[in-house]
Amino acid sequence: MRRKAQQKTRRPTSRGARRPGRARGERTRRVRIRPNAAEAARRILARLERHYPDARIELAYETPLQLLVATILSAQCTDQRVNQVTRTLFQKYRTAADFARADPAVLMAEIRPSGFYRNKAWAIIGCCQRLVAEHGGEVPGTMEALTALPGVWRKTANVVLGNAFGKPALAVDTHVIRVANRLGLTATDDPDRIEQDLCALIPPARWAQATHLFIFHGRYTCKALRPLCDRCPVYEDCLWPAKPKRQAPGPALRPAARAVRG
Ligand code: SF4
Repeated sequence: MRRKAQQKTRRPTSRGARRPGRARGERTRRVRIRPNAAEAARRILARLERHYPDARIELAYETPLQLLVATILSAQCTDQRVNQVTRTLFQKYRTAADFARADPAVLMAEIRPSGFYRNKAWAIIGCCQRLVAEHGGEVPGTMEALTALPGVWRKTANVVLGNAFGKPALAVDTHVIRVANRLGLTATDDPDRIEQDLCALIPPARWAQATHLFIFHGRYTCKALRPLCDRCPVYEDCLWPAKPKRQAPGPALRPAARAVRG
């Protein structure tokens, strides 16, 4: 059991499934990285910031450990669902040692609504066993130490670093992949290369906020299957060949109008 918990748990994705967040045929409609991309990135972020003034992480947490666990649970799951799960989970498991000692079957049942619960339970237990054994039960604040933990990949580490530690960190999830490609700020599906592309265009002090802005835009406007292009604040900057022609400028739609959530 211990050995299994210490393995780097596989990312919870389904084999053969289309990458979530990518519309059918998206690969064939990819745009190239635009010229003067840094200037475009500055302009795009300024517009997104005006449009989503409350862009922030939507996972509920109070400590780095809670954010680490919540981010592991958020793979292939909405933040709202994760918050429902962690509301009771964090009352029971308060320290890394609590999670490290968890009965796998019990933890699986407790996190089942978040999906991929077997992988996630082993990842949380293995990760917390390592935290206890090597970090005194504390979450380390470096990329190297975080990604050495079982079940912690670069995206999770960036979420923790950027939000719990306030460090420059740009996390690439399915929304960031889609939005950055459609806006011509990158031209690849590889999250690590997208992170490099975006970090080269955006000043480090803005990396964490840029993550939130891209995620909000992808979540509430630039949706995978039916993007709300008529209401898009960066329509003019979008290079996506499949974007529909705009009839007339749409009304500003702020995320506060949560009716658009998908
Ligand atoms: S115009 Fe449409 S596809 Fe382009 S960024 Fe805006 S919502 Fe996304």
